[in-house]
Amino acid sequence: MTCAERVRDPLGSMPIDEMQTRPSLPVSNPQALAGARRAERLLPTTKRLVANAIVQLAKDYDLYTTALARNRVNAATARVEAVRRIKPDVDSRDNASVLLRDPRVIDFGTIFLAGLRSDEGMVSVLAHELTHIASGQPDSLRLLFRAIARRAAARTGLRIQGQRAEELGCDLVGVMAARAFIKQTASWEPPPRRLARAFEHNCVDDDASDEDHLSPRNTIRALFALDVSLASEEVSDGGTGASSIGPQLPLTRPIMLTASTRSP
Ligand SMILES: [Zn+2]
Repeated sequence: MTCAERVRDPLGSMPIDEMQTRPSLPVSNPQALAGARRAERLLPTTKRLVANAIVQLAKDYDLYTTALARNRVNAATARVEAVRRIKPDVDSRDNASVLLRDPRVIDFGTIFLAGLRSDEGMVSVLAHELTHIASGQPDSLRLLFRAIARRAAARTGLRIQGQRAEELGCDLVGVMAARAFIKQTASWEPPPRRLARAFEHNCVDDDASDEDHLSPRNTIRALFALDVSLASEEVSDGGTGASSIGPQLPLTRPIMLTASTRSP
């Protein structure tokens, strides 16, 4: 449903495999410029949302119970607070990245800046990068990433170890930040459409994984498996054309919320 929504949404994000096929964009490209401005504008809000999400997750995963654990989390959120700048970068193309020796700057490929057409998509990706910075050189969030990965692996059967755990943890903070952003900002748009934007860059056709990352579509699956309430918000009846999941369904029928019920 998330990826079907992407196709209908004029502000849907471009999937990263499609980004990869595009020629590099100069920093002065209008869409890249618009993306850079969007990222700059959303950075202060996203920093706050990331700090909140990390504390929330630490509590949810019982990693906020001792003074040592709380210190780790507080050091992590302080690093997020210190981030100052988004640096548009032609050669980073469809990637965003942070150098832990210069943790105040997020390098953001111009193709990526141009391909995220919504505030929700941007908050999600910015929050991902900020979470790498939060963990930082001391690896302050290592235990949290591991706990998240263990739960996701148990629920999906996917193998999620090492760097994969960190990437998934960063993605989870990303969608939590986007969800909080949606709750805080008024809009006429249906919340499920807005929430879908937090995932849509992963709606690839070429679903390749590597040692450090789950495949993009498995990332979406793992995120929904980690937070089932996210999935229920995504399929809630505020969406465009979602009336087919309304109360007219006989109660005995299992409600199968597949893309086919909503595709054009
Ligand atoms: Zn990452």
